[in-house]
Amino acid sequence: MTAEAPNLVAGEERPAATGAWLERSRPADGSPLCRVARSGAEDAAAAVAAARDAQPAWGARTAVERGNVVRAIAELLRERREEASALVAEETGKPLALAQGETDAAIEMGFFVAGEGRRSYGRTTTASMPHRTVLTLRRPVGVAALLISFNTPLPNVAWKAFPAILCGNASVLKPSEHTPLSATWLGRLCLEAGLPPGVLNVVQGLGPEAGMPLVEDPRVDLVSFTGSARTGGLVAEACGRRLAKAVLELGGKNALVVCDDADLDRAVEWTVASAFSNAGQRCAAASRVVVLEAAYDAFVERLLAVVDALDDIGPVISEESMERILDAVAAARGAGAIVLRGGDRVGDAGWHVAPTLVEGVASDAPLSCQELFGPVAALYRARDFDEAVAVVNDSPYGLTAAIHTASVHRAMLFAERVAAGVVVVNAGTHGSEPHMGFGGVKASGTGWKEAGVEALDAYSETQYVNLVVDPMAV
Ligand code: NAD
Repeated sequence: MTAEAPNLVAGEERPAATGAWLERSRPADGSPLCRVARSGAEDAAAAVAAARDAQPAWGARTAVERGNVVRAIAELLRERREEASALVAEETGKPLALAQGETDAAIEMGFFVAGEGRRSYGRTTTASMPHRTVLTLRRPVGVAALLISFNTPLPNVAWKAFPAILCGNASVLKPSEHTPLSATWLGRLCLEAGLPPGVLNVVQGLGPEAGMPLVEDPRVDLVSFTGSARTGGLVAEACGRRLAKAVLELGGKNALVVCDDADLDRAVEWTVASAFSNAGQRCAAASRVVVLEAAYDAFVERLLAVVDALDDIGPVISEESMERILDAVAAARGAGAIVLRGGDRVGDAGWHVAPTLVEGVASDAPLSCQELFGPVAALYRARDFDEAVAVVNDSPYGLTAAIHTASVHRAMLFAERVAAGVVVVNAGTHGSEPHMGFGGVKASGTGWKEAGVEALDAYSETQYVNLVVDPMAV
């Protein structure tokens, strides 16, 4: 029997109202994987109605109780770690060990968020009038639409759904059409762990058909979106028209800088992990590697040796994605770039792109500016530190940046001068953890952070309470 990814509305599994399905195949070999409910406006509206119904009672529970439910979800996910990881490995094609690491990251996010139910700290302050105290309380935003990318399916849900649940919201999750199975699976698991029906609903389908109706629905108070800058712009526009709160976590064109005083073996190791793990499908992937002139030849020689010995990095998510990536590399080659490694498909089953390294690309060429979301990194020579910083900043994006250097002075100057939400010294361009806020500047985001206690600011509203005490009434 073909696997199915139905919607989950008010605790019930449902096909799309029209009965339409999308077919989905396995990225690893192109074989049929499942069919996905092809939802539309009617399905989105039903899910929002279910969330609206469920929210008041959920929001009235204490944050401690809500945190306990998030903990129960994390515990159940830990019990089912192998099942979850196998499902993700199958629907994305990524190596099982990588999928297991992602399941662990989602579980850790659950435990971190659960603990926040017992903190949920606010502030108290004074006022200009006597006998007055001002304090802050967190209030739920209401109903949230959560739209996510395919790249790390379980953490992508965990980063949004867990803080949304903790803060007393009810949500409608629109997973990527490429990774529908793990989303419905996690929705069911939440119910089993004790989350009331309707607090987390799942609407499957394509972005414009199933996602945009959620974004435009006036009953949705908060839209939290993780995806490309292009789609993020459309979401922001729709939210702007109706003045809805919009949290946007977008793309990156992250740079890793290798200085002439760096430990080159270590820099190579982190470059390969940053550029090629998850087949480069990370918002924080290093797609630009900037090397100081004095270290360039030695670094590239070692880098090529390690890339030549790389194991399978897994496929990219779809045939269209593979074609788009290969076309971009071919166009760069046509414009004079040198493709040192890769640039072609591996095998003829599934959507595998060879780890690709390109040099001789201008910093304003399309390959330097457009996020490819694949295993492609461009190498740049920089005369000195100042030029390296200039190349890093010559980008529409500002998500993460890394530097390899033995000098703490250079490292701190780098952090001061680069426009990036996250700066890493002597490691990769990714590596966030549940307790660390994550988000970018410029076209990478609009200022809200995910994860960390900062996520609570996205999923709650801060209310200021002025408390006047009447001494005469004592
Ligand atoms: P995408 O923008 O194509 O899709 C993201 C989500 O939006 C999907 O669920 C999709 O169905 C939906 N969507 C697409 N078009 C829509 C529309 N017109 N209206 C409403 N919804 C729509 O992105 P993707 O290819 O799934 O993901 C890759 C992108 O995500 C990359 O740019 C990557 O950097 C980014 N990303 C960012 C972060 C972060 O935290 N900043 C994390 C992971 C991925």
